[in-house]
Amino acid sequence: MQINEKQLALVADRISALIKSGSFYGKKLEEAGITSVESPEDFLKLPFSEKKDLREAYPLGLMTAPEEEIVRIHSSSGTTGTPVIIPYTAKDVEDWAIMFARCYETAGITNKDRIQITPGYGLWTAGIGFQAGAERLGAMVIPMGPGNTDKQLEMMQSLESTVLCATSSYALLLAEEIQKRGIKDKIKLKKGVIGSERWSQKMRDRISSELGIELYDIYGLTEIYGPGIGINCSENTGMHYWDDYIYVEIIDPKTGEVLPDGELGEIVITTLVKEGAPLIRYRTHDLSRIIPGKCSCGRCYPRLDTIMGRTDDMMKIKGVNVFPSQIEEVLGGFEEISSEYQIRISHLDGKDTMRIYVETTGDHDFADLSKRIAEKVKSRIGFTPIVKVVEVGVLPRSMKKTARVIDERYD
Ligand code: ZN
Repeated sequence: MQINEKQLALVADRISALIKSGSFYGKKLEEAGITSVESPEDFLKLPFSEKKDLREAYPLGLMTAPEEEIVRIHSSSGTTGTPVIIPYTAKDVEDWAIMFARCYETAGITNKDRIQITPGYGLWTAGIGFQAGAERLGAMVIPMGPGNTDKQLEMMQSLESTVLCATSSYALLLAEEIQKRGIKDKIKLKKGVIGSERWSQKMRDRISSELGIELYDIYGLTEIYGPGIGINCSENTGMHYWDDYIYVEIIDPKTGEVLPDGELGEIVITTLVKEGAPLIRYRTHDLSRIIPGKCSCGRCYPRLDTIMGRTDDMMKIKGVNVFPSQIEEVLGGFEEISSEYQIRISHLDGKDTMRIYVETTGDHDFADLSKRIAEKVKSRIGFTPIVKVVEVGVLPRSMKKTARVIDERYD
């Protein structure tokens, strides 16, 4: 989706603020010879930014507004290397709450709801974002933070929480605990707002059926406000994102080329009004696509598909970008096979070959199953793989997703 005039004017304004402040990123733009953007073509010439660039700005190099206007910082979890510090002005904090309240509204949540928040508070953007949005909406917040399952369930029953905000793994843990304790009839939950890490359809179905709730995927990342920049509506056809606050592009992660709507690639985000730390063409490394056309809910906000994984997972086979999650999704549609699979990519006689190993029981015709799976995979990724069906238990068991893909090519 090409950047529109209004968005372009906002980007131009952010670029001049970045340069004027002499912030880390402003200097980078200046070095690249950027002074302004006047056309969509100019915009496409802007350099991408990456997490590693932001790390270099540690601690406060990203600060673009005057210090007296900065009211808070957040930090991305620096499990590897230096963390990224993002300064927020009062307006940034308010904008984030406005976007978050819009997320709740899009999920059909109102000021009559009681929202139990289980993501963490503190440097991390999650908990406080869920809370600020809920307060703005006028709902009742139950700010639990993570862990302490006994207390969570006690409050959930006593206060009759109607909305659960959680990561998918914690939502699943709570669902299993509720079932184990036989307290489902005491739980009044109607909806779950779940952080948009990649989670399988099977997990989603389990949480939804065990808790008897509708699930909503909320998207966001610390570098860009935090969670709350997009969420799916009840039509469940992708996440609406707020294009008055962010401009989204999808690029080929290998070449950096901007892809047309509908094609899968890396999400790149430009903030349009952020003051504390504006970001221009920030590479998220999250994989998705822009869903073309308008949602049947009638909202005009564009849509991103469910996050399909990370760019690091991408494989280029026969010139086509393939993601393990695409294969996994196709395989998930076959009830005859187990949850285990293995993908092997090799290069023989000048050609790439993809073999997919799946498991089934002796009750099924291996050859027929192999043919059906190959056809389905082809319709999804564009070329036909070799599908090898083996007996259940033959494939190695591993907790790690990466071990499922073995690239034997020499290049
Ligand atoms: Zn919609």
